[in-house]
Amino acid sequence: MKKTNFKLLLIILFVFLFFQSCNSVSKEKEYQKIDIALGTLCSIKIYTEKNANEAELILNGLFSELDRLENIFSANMENSLLGRINANAGIIPAQIPNELYEVLSKSIFFAEKTGGAFNPAIGAIVKLWNIAMDKGTPPDAVELKQALLKIDYKNIELNGTEVFLKEKGMSLDLGGIAKGYAADWSKNFLLKHGIKRGIIDLGGNVLVLGKKHDGSDWKVGIKNPIIGEPKIGIAYISLFDKTIVTSGNYERFFEYENNIYHHILSPETGYPVKNNLRAVTVIADSSMEADALSTSFFILGIEKSRTLIKSFPQVSAVFFTEDNSIFIIGKEIEGLNILDNRFHLKKQL
Ligand code: ADP
Ligand code: MG
Repeated sequence: MKKTNFKLLLIILFVFLFFQSCNSVSKEKEYQKIDIALGTLCSIKIYTEKNANEAELILNGLFSELDRLENIFSANMENSLLGRINANAGIIPAQIPNELYEVLSKSIFFAEKTGGAFNPAIGAIVKLWNIAMDKGTPPDAVELKQALLKIDYKNIELNGTEVFLKEKGMSLDLGGIAKGYAADWSKNFLLKHGIKRGIIDLGGNVLVLGKKHDGSDWKVGIKNPIIGEPKIGIAYISLFDKTIVTSGNYERFFEYENNIYHHILSPETGYPVKNNLRAVTVIADSSMEADALSTSFFILGIEKSRTLIKSFPQVSAVFFTEDNSIFIIGKEIEGLNILDNRFHLKKQL
């Protein structure tokens, strides 16, 4: 999860932003709450015939749940459950709730599926790069080499109720998957409370629920992935009941001696993945799957991703390369609209 300084945003947006707009077709109104959760800026919009009080209760309830999930999954909070598990690496196993079991077992599944490219035990290296990011200089190569010895995901011992990290110095990091889980969780929470239409946006991890009230699709924007340019939409995808998740090197990075160092790391080298990609956007039914896959595809690159995506017939992936080409692999996408004419959709090879 991103460890970003959102203080300024907090001041501006620590608001309960409720706005309502009537629509003529039904009595549904729009309610929105924007706040910091899961270490990022989250927005939940719902459309319902419920009154403002009921809607407020639902939105507040959901944000409390997101805080609860952050207290489980965050690798940046010392007192989170994950923080405590990491502190006990090589010492004692920890009891875990079902939420953590689900995310860890899926993470290990993706680690196996990707030959270790997606690695939930990458914490030791992520920590070094987080410090480096704050300082603006890459980590010491010797420290990085030592940390590389502490990231074997096969040393995660997991059963239904317990997890044990077998080696001291090992640490879990679920930054590549937990927001997706939280988005799926939010969807189920809304459905349980009678909400059938809405947009869940957890720091760019977007999930759209149902269709718009007039029966049309939602339009979900894709941000400009070019480092240094404003993060405005360069494309949008029309879709309903889907999730759309992007991993890119423009999300969190620093520049040092003309090199860009970003936050998606190669478990082989310990350094940020270097390839010709700017970003990968994944469209899927499960946001947890889309989150893990967008990170995995970014690490693997287009060619290896073609093999991986065959195991996920309902998933589409859009690759944005450095020369501004766009490649789509997996399930065909009908509603992609490119708004910025510097980007060109290329046929699959
Ligand atoms: P974002 O956090 O911007 O949504 P991603 O979903 O792509 O982006 O996840 C990147 C995060 O995943 C990193 O900040 C880090 O916490 C974690 N991570 C980095 N490299 C890997 C990796 N090889 N495998 C699994 N997780 C990773
Ligand atoms: Mg991800």
